[in-house]
Amino acid sequence: MKELIKEIIKFRDERDWKKYHTLDNLSKSISIEAAELLENFQWSNEYDHENVCDELSDIMIYCIMAVEAIGEDVETIIRNKMVKNGMKYSLDRNNILR
Ligand SMILES: [Mg+2]
Repeated sequence: MKELIKEIIKFRDERDWKKYHTLDNLSKSISIEAAELLENFQWSNEYDHENVCDELSDIMIYCIMAVEAIGEDVETIIRNKMVKNGMKYSLDRNNILR
């Protein structure tokens, strides 16, 4: 994962795009790419697998750059959120969505 993140950052820096990658711009881009993902299901559930993979990748790349923009570590913040999710949705039967 860390090598992939380095590649993504290198790709951005080689093109001098960091100046455009403010947190607000990246947040907007995540939402725009999520809408592009939804386009695959706009009129039918028969979707283009490759396009779904491309749009998921766009979303994740922007998410990784947003995490980098706020000086955090992807694995750390996901693990922290998983702990919170574990507390919120404990294995107590009354707390599990079925
Ligand atoms: Mg896209």
